[in-house]
Amino acid sequence: MTTPVPSEVDLFVIGAGSGGVRAARIAATHGAKVAVAEEYRVGGTCVIRGCVPKKLLVYASRFAHEFEDAAGFGWSVPEPAFDWATLIANKDKEIDRLERAYVANLEKAGVGIIRSRAVLTDPHTIRLAGGESVRAANVLIATGGAPSLGAAIPGREHVISSNEAFHLPSLPQRVLIQGGGYIAVEFAGIFAGLGSAVTLIYRGTNILRGFDDDVRTHLRAEMERRGIAIMTGDTVAGVERTGDACTVTLTGGKRIEVDRVMFATGRRPHIAGLGLDAVGVRLAENGGIAVDELSRTSVPHIYAVGDVTNRVNLTPVAIREGHAFADSVFGGRPTRVDHTNVPSAVFSEPEVGVVGLTETQARERHARIDIYKSTFRPMKATLSGRETRVMMKLVVEGSGGRVLGCHIVGEGAAEMVQMVAIAIKMGATKADFDATMALHPTAAEELVTMRTPTARYGVEAAE
Ligand SMILES: Cc1cc2nc3c(=O)[nH]c(=O)nc-3n(C[C@H](O)[C@H](O)[C@H](O)COP(=O)(O)OP(=O)(O)OC[C@H]3O[C@@H](n4cnc5c(N)ncnc54)[C@H](O)[C@@H]3O)c2cc1C
Repeated sequence: MTTPVPSEVDLFVIGAGSGGVRAARIAATHGAKVAVAEEYRVGGTCVIRGCVPKKLLVYASRFAHEFEDAAGFGWSVPEPAFDWATLIANKDKEIDRLERAYVANLEKAGVGIIRSRAVLTDPHTIRLAGGESVRAANVLIATGGAPSLGAAIPGREHVISSNEAFHLPSLPQRVLIQGGGYIAVEFAGIFAGLGSAVTLIYRGTNILRGFDDDVRTHLRAEMERRGIAIMTGDTVAGVERTGDACTVTLTGGKRIEVDRVMFATGRRPHIAGLGLDAVGVRLAENGGIAVDELSRTSVPHIYAVGDVTNRVNLTPVAIREGHAFADSVFGGRPTRVDHTNVPSAVFSEPEVGVVGLTETQARERHARIDIYKSTFRPMKATLSGRETRVMMKLVVEGSGGRVLGCHIVGEGAAEMVQMVAIAIKMGATKADFDATMALHPTAAEELVTMRTPTARYGVEAAE
């Protein structure tokens, strides 16, 4: 699977993740001689220890509710039993299959795969772990990000990140997760669904900083309703191992005993030891590699895409940036990536899907804003008896103007928002939403039937 190391290439890609793989493959189809180095596994974070394995665990965790909800529809389900080892083994098999598919696609395109860490020694020279050097006319840095466990605290060696969470030998009965971002929230839902008692600790005032405030409030209440203990305004001060368990001390003085402690306290660009200083590649204020809109770094012929640039850290964005880079540099077609209105999801329980501006952002940027918000009991919950509510919100410019943002918390939110994102990208107005016939009975029909604003801003000033 490792190709002989070439002495010279047109493009050397460091990192075979979402962005690197796409860039390498497209550059090769444009006729370039391409090599890609990968120090861990081909596919990168998303395929190996991010989106894909995470979503598989999310699916697994959601069966718990399905079994419970079935009773109201007349089913009697024998006491279900869950086996962590089976889930992890099946998940690993699927990840192996995907990795093989990524390798095959690269090979089919004629890309040389080098299984090694790669570092820059000068702007056109890459050194591999075995000491070999490769000369490259162009270099693409696509090394992604890595979990950041924050400041050193006593007992940090007992803390796991999302990387290890995918390979735990057994399902912990009690888990403490520190963090308020999407990865923390998703793992809280995964562990809780699979049967663990989960405590989520976050230093801020509420989870999912940066999301619309209504999403944050609604999701928190739903998670608490599902038994997840959420403690905000506190942080982990230390972790002590006591036999098989860990005693966690919080800054506020509280002590909690759990079986596993996981930190999901952010990710940082993966640039340590890459040789960036030596070759003069500048960093941006956010710690990522500084690039222009064509993903060019401060050094000619060195480019960077994906999480290492810390722009919008999502797989489809890294892929789009990698593709645009290859088209720009090897396809003779300079291509810029539009980073606005990127839809995103939190695969929590219940799910979150969002696109566009939050209410706060819209109020800062637009003189007149209408808010349409609806919370309702989903139809399935009537017979299942589950206490849950869906929240949908549209942020609209002026009166009946462009829809600037859509925020949904509830089953299927991510799937719905992917479609709404097309309309928003096309500049759809609230009038376009209103003119669209409802599809009944669905939850999504609420998006085209919200008639009266629940809040209006800037109206008096404009009238
Ligand atoms: C738990 C988790 C869940 C996520 N869920 C989602 C999701 O649901 N949806 C979504 O869109 N995004 C999700 N993401 C984010 C997504 O995984 C990243 O945005 C995406 O993988 C970025 O792609 P990339 O090409 O920039 O880097 P990566 O995919 O991280 O690839 C970088 C590769 O470079 C390799 N590498 C690093 N340094 C070197 C070196 N010096 N030499 C050789 N190889 C090197 C690494 O081993 C890695 O394979 C998730 C991330 C995590 C951690």
